[in-house]
Amino acid sequence: MRKLIIANWKMHYGPVKAGAWVRAFRRERLPKDLDVAIAVPAVSLAAARASLGRATIPALGAQNAFWESQGAYTGEISPAMLLEFGVTMCLAGHSERRSQLGETDEMVAKKAAALQKAGIAPVICVGETDAERKKGAALKAVRSQTLAAIKNLKPDGQAQPVFAYEPVWAIGTGRACHPEDAKAAHEAIRGVFVKTWGAKWTHEIRVLYGGSVDARNITDYMTTTGIDGALVGGSSLDPRGFGLLCRAAVPA
Ligand code: PEP
Repeated sequence: MRKLIIANWKMHYGPVKAGAWVRAFRRERLPKDLDVAIAVPAVSLAAARASLGRATIPALGAQNAFWESQGAYTGEISPAMLLEFGVTMCLAGHSERRSQLGETDEMVAKKAAALQKAGIAPVICVGETDAERKKGAALKAVRSQTLAAIKNLKPDGQAQPVFAYEPVWAIGTGRACHPEDAKAAHEAIRGVFVKTWGAKWTHEIRVLYGGSVDARNITDYMTTTGIDGALVGGSSLDPRGFGLLCRAAVPA
């Protein structure tokens, strides 16, 4: 399976800076064996697309989408609208949205299903809080979020789901998860979708790690069995630094 690195800019870079980021990143040399995507704020999709032109590397992604395709949902953006920018993947259930915007497992499941139906690969984020980890309930939390999220998904759609294990306590804190702990969580996630969809999907569906990944620690994750790439927040904001991280991920 090809490894995948996704940049999550979070709420950074409006259209002007987004265009400049994409132009700078396109000058970076990238490993041929690596898939790279950027999840940009919705208002910056047009600028990112304009700077990308027809280029598919990096793939253009979004950070959120609503589950309906149109209607009276003020402020929301549908998967169909994202498609108009050539978006091929979109985050669903990032912990910042779960904790600060009240996104529930049920909402995440509806978003993931709507994205897949529209032909956009949902990148489903799951992960335990620090309290859950301290209670020894990390894997239970991860399994339960994964099971809830895949309720209406198919493994063989044109938009294959991607999972991202993102322990909440590791996001933006500099406290990256030990690769062996990440491996256990990845196995738990795989266990859930394999039980639901069948064993053949073990090697077909990517499970990424996210949480304080940088150019120094990326190799530790990429060389751990079962980790198929990374979702990168803070370390994706500088295009040259992100290029360096991508090169470190899959050494030539
Ligand atoms: C994220 O936002 O998904 C993330 C992993 O952030 P960071 O890399 O900054 O921890």
